[in-house]
Amino acid sequence: MEPLLRALEAVNERLVTCHLCGNVDTVDPCGICADPRRDPRALCVVEDVSDLWALDKSRLFPGRFHVLGGRLSALDGVRPEDLTIDGLVARVEAGGIDEVVLAMNATLEGQTTAHYLAERLERFPIRLTQLAHGVPVGGELDYLDEGTLAQALRARRPVG
Ligand SMILES: [Zn+2]
Repeated sequence: MEPLLRALEAVNERLVTCHLCGNVDTVDPCGICADPRRDPRALCVVEDVSDLWALDKSRLFPGRFHVLGGRLSALDGVRPEDLTIDGLVARVEAGGIDEVVLAMNATLEGQTTAHYLAERLERFPIRLTQLAHGVPVGGELDYLDEGTLAQALRARRPVG
């Protein structure tokens, strides 16, 4: 156990928060921000680093990320200034970004945060998109909760 613990400690000591996106890595800027193959015009906004890792593992998003560090919550007293929202606005304001994807969780607080961000980013000439919420892959309709089903129905699109 001893060598393993020492190795873990060594990694932990080297972890830093990327000053550009808020990702946690052993280098700053992080591997994603420093990767020239990433599309700099697409930015995906997530609540937490774990969401960034989940999305990045899927390899479906070609751009870069922005970690908010949480979600707005009246209950927990999380206000806009507690999150990296000003940093996000500054990144968009700096230009060079065509699309911002709001990838908040499908919770009340996540959606409240997405609405707030949409208002803050409204004045910029960007395409503002949001993750579609709906029937999960492998999901059977009769097992879905009412909220998921309602979202899926609202986000319905033409066939083919
Ligand atoms: Zn980064």
